[in-house]
Amino acid sequence: MLNNALFTVDYSEMVIVKDIDFYSLCEHHLLPFFGKCHVAYIPSNKVIGLSKVPRLVDVFARRLQVQERLTSQIADTIREKITPLGVAVVMEATHLCMSMRGVEKQNSFAVTSAMHGAFRNNARTRMEFLELIKLRSAVPGVRDSAPATYACMAED
Ligand SMILES: [Zn+2]
Repeated sequence: MLNNALFTVDYSEMVIVKDIDFYSLCEHHLLPFFGKCHVAYIPSNKVIGLSKVPRLVDVFARRLQVQERLTSQIADTIREKITPLGVAVVMEATHLCMSMRGVEKQNSFAVTSAMHGAFRNNARTRMEFLELIKLRSAVPGVRDSAPATYACMAED
């Protein structure tokens, strides 16, 4: 799907596309979850056109999803297409299925991440990325929210 959007470059600075709005449906409850997606990667010799990153997020979000899987599908696709030195995807979402079941309000907000390569191995690279996206989970309370799948799949 990205075949016309790949370019060859000779730099290896972090490429970041943040605050991508996404809207998806939770496959367990068929209820919406939506929020922001942040994507970063460090090219080895190919980059993806910046406008194509939100489109990629959209393609996977349009299916019935689980937030964790959606997060890793985006990261895995970027890995497969351009073999970067590192890729990171963070998604912050509000799950209606969680709020409707009366889960505490702050816990209906879930953060998931997929970190590969330099973002996994190098704490400074990871911190730089998290700094750049100013993750809302740095706000007290949200950091302690339940993992999305756990919260979403838990039956009353
Ligand atoms: Zn759900």
